[in-house]
Amino acid sequence: MEGKVYKSTGSWYTVKGADGSFYECRIKGKFRIKGIKSTNPIAVGDHVHFELDDKGDEKVGVIHSIEDRKNYIIRKSVNLSKQTHIIAANLDQVFLLITLNNPITYTIFIDRFLVTAEAYDVPVVLVFNKIDTYSQEETDEIKFLASLYREIGYTCIGISAKTGKNVDKIKEMMKGKTSMFSGHSGVGKSTLINAIEPNLEIKTAEISQQHLQGQHTTTFAEMFDLSFGAQIIDTPGIKGFGIVDMEKEEIGDYFPELFELKQDCKFNNCIHVDEPHCAVKRALEAGKVSWSRYKSYLQMINGEEDTYRMDMYGE
Ligand code: GDP
Ligand code: ZN
Repeated sequence: MEGKVYKSTGSWYTVKGADGSFYECRIKGKFRIKGIKSTNPIAVGDHVHFELDDKGDEKVGVIHSIEDRKNYIIRKSVNLSKQTHIIAANLDQVFLLITLNNPITYTIFIDRFLVTAEAYDVPVVLVFNKIDTYSQEETDEIKFLASLYREIGYTCIGISAKTGKNVDKIKEMMKGKTSMFSGHSGVGKSTLINAIEPNLEIKTAEISQQHLQGQHTTTFAEMFDLSFGAQIIDTPGIKGFGIVDMEKEEIGDYFPELFELKQDCKFNNCIHVDEPHCAVKRALEAGKVSWSRYKSYLQMINGEEDTYRMDMYGE
């Protein structure tokens, strides 16, 4: 049988089969995926193949293979074992919620998030929330940021999760896809999810009844079906996710507008700082690359103690 992993709690995986019902599955033998050293071989969002256990009519099975992932995000374990934990796989998009006030979202945060997401090949939609609260000046700032990021190729939208403004547009973008919501604490993630699907909490309760008892469910990612044909992956209690370690020379490749210019730099390993005949520096001076993006870039390549460690996080 074929299915998608909706939840994983250690050794058991809740898989939604193609028939629409949920199965509690274990993994067959030692299951390793080439190139990834992680504490969990299978994660929420994985597309798996499984066989039913022939024990009565219980919906229990064994996973024997998984399809190639189009992307996945990880978390480093808190201890020093260097183990990684795969939080979720096969994400279609992440909505990054941004507010100018209460709390402030700085462009360096947005840019770090985008670099990480580019490295993971996860598309990001920039959602400027709380547009019902901004002054004229702040509204202008949002327009400026939205056009800056649109120019680079990111989808941007201004919404109010509170009044419902443009929430229908978010729903439209979610249809038929698996999404995640991210952004600082207080930007309005819960309010938005509640505006999108008011009864999600009830569904959460229904789904969890099917899970095995006595497990700590709070720190695991979980996928939910929404009523309009969309899925969301919730990562309760997971603070840092999508951590990537990268080489200094690699960082610029995840700024799409810098990457595009790099082929015109004199040196093919140009990091666009002091090199002669640098296409990025030329574009900056001509006003074709944004100073705020370039400043973020410099901050990243001059990284402090955690050099070149990019982190996508929600809280
Ligand atoms: P989360 O931490 O990202 O889940 O943020 P919450 O959804 O808990 O929202 C934090 C606070 O911001 C709450 O008091 C919400 O009512 C408020 N809030 C969320 N979205 C909006 C919005 O669009 N407009 C206004 N005025 N308040 C909002
Ligand atoms: Zn250059």
